[in-house]
Amino acid sequence: MVAFKLFLALAAVTSAFAHDHSERHHSRDLRIVGRKTSSIWRRQEVPGSGSEFQVLVDGNKAFKEADPALLKKLTDEGQEPPFMFLGCSDSRVSEGTVFRTQPGTLFTQRNIANQYNPTDPNAQSVLAYAVAELGVKHIILMGHYGCGGVAASIIPPPASVDAANGAVQAWIQPIREIFQSSSRPEIVTLREEIKAEANPEEPDVTNPGFRALVEENVKAGVGRIAADSVIANHFAAIAAGNSTTGAERRSGEGGPAEPVFIHGWVYDIANGEVRDLGISVGPPGVAIPQVPFARIAAAADKAAASRSTSAPAPAATATPSESVAVRCAEQCKTKRNFLPRNMY
Ligand SMILES: [Zn+2]
Repeated sequence: MVAFKLFLALAAVTSAFAHDHSERHHSRDLRIVGRKTSSIWRRQEVPGSGSEFQVLVDGNKAFKEADPALLKKLTDEGQEPPFMFLGCSDSRVSEGTVFRTQPGTLFTQRNIANQYNPTDPNAQSVLAYAVAELGVKHIILMGHYGCGGVAASIIPPPASVDAANGAVQAWIQPIREIFQSSSRPEIVTLREEIKAEANPEEPDVTNPGFRALVEENVKAGVGRIAADSVIANHFAAIAAGNSTTGAERRSGEGGPAEPVFIHGWVYDIANGEVRDLGISVGPPGVAIPQVPFARIAAAADKAAASRSTSAPAPAATATPSESVAVRCAEQCKTKRNFLPRNMY
């Protein structure tokens, strides 16, 4: 009898563990760094499937059957992307999806809150390879409203952090410094509001200060890329007559090196819109192609004022009639027409 009761107890415990494991397996909660318990998000279930991976299997099947000729061409001839893209790791801002691009279009680096720091060998090596070897025409740094990394930079760090949280907190420190030092009115207001609260929560995606910080983080990143030695050397090579190694590799047949432009954009996760911050940088004396996305006026004005004092390479005024579409319609034909169709 005692043995039977013990068996029942063991069975109950085993069942409880099995149930608990199953529940966690299928609907695990994700705690967003810096968020309160009330902001915990629930992992999305994979719809209509018995396998967690089915959505990937189905997607890959459709993808590989869509344009096998393109895949073969890219394999045989290699990549020659016209764009380098630096964006956030956020699953909602996948560049291939947002711009509906084909393989071979965007040479990509993504990290939490789309940051660029010259002390980050990962990002710098991507930049170096994109500019000196692949010969990209445009470097796009794109932030996004509602960025979790930026939001976490607004509230004070947790009193105690584990290894995982500590790694993220260290990574977002540069954004935290922007938030603490920025004189932009929307950010100053938010900073005062956060200071006044005993237990501040991350602001809503629509909060003007939050949105401004997203934009300022992009502007800081564009400034750091423009100041990087990779770009400085490239601009110097163009100014000196296109005779350095990177320029020669890029021009292929010994022709002139081509200008590279750096752009700062922001993506709105709520409606899919891409906005131009109006802070594009290019080689001195070279007209910057017009970016065919709506400009964020306030940010553009502020950027124009600050660019005259902080930009390492003063940019020429954009020529209104010379749009990126016009330029790329010719230039990018040599790049095998991998531009998204809406650029033409
Ligand atoms: Zn983000």
